Amino acid sequence: MNSKKKCLLKVILIGETGVGKTSMVKRYVERRFSIKEKATIGVNLSIKEVTVDDHLVTLQIWDTAGQERFYCLTSGFYRGVDCCMLVFDVTSRASFDALDRWHDEFLIQANPHDPVHFPFVLVGNKVDLGNRVVSNREVNEWCQRNNKIPYYETSAKRGTNLDLAFHTLSLKALELEADSNVDADFPVTIILKSPSKRTDKSHCQC
Ligand code: GDP
Ligand code: MG
Repeated sequence: MNSKKKCLLKVILIGETGVGKTSMVKRYVERRFSIKEKATIGVNLSIKEVTVDDHLVTLQIWDTAGQERFYCLTSGFYRGVDCCMLVFDVTSRASFDALDRWHDEFLIQANPHDPVHFPFVLVGNKVDLGNRVVSNREVNEWCQRNNKIPYYETSAKRGTNLDLAFHTLSLKALELEADSNVDADFPVTIILKSPSKRTDKSHCQC
């Protein structure tokens, strides 16, 4: 019998259109890459099972659809999200400049219980291309300004660093889940009103 604990994590990818979100998920989940990735319509949902420490984790990966350019993804997209991959393209200054808006919009829409410790990973994709325009120094400054979000440079085309980026994100989400379960063991006050977003979805058998 497998003694690992089972856990379901909802992961979302956000960032400007064209940065490579759909290609990253395809590469990570299906191990393939296609040059002409058709524009996403509706939400793409992919499932990947991974082992993270002593957990068997089912990653439910939500890829944004064509509507990302309007910065107004539906609330269902953000509901119950456990962790978020923020993506830009290292060859596109505009996609890097848009990160603040994506980050802020996420926090408004998802409204996490603990925004400072919410599990994010920042990804600079398309490093296989020679014409990068965003420097590591700028990215590091951005990460420092935003609660030291971990940063990875990836290539969906070559498969570079995708496993690492998703692994780190899952690990951060599990750590937060474990922390919130510890808190839950010592209730200080019982508040009789509708449950908060995080407490009503404790789907991790930690
Ligand atoms: P999305 O709009 O963020 O989902 O971006 P897509 O996954 O649709 O990718 C947009 C374009 O960038 C497509 O033509 C992809 O083939 C290309 N692309 C995505 N990732 C990479 C990468 O890592 N390297 C290169 N060279 N092209 C990429
Ligand atoms: Mg897409």
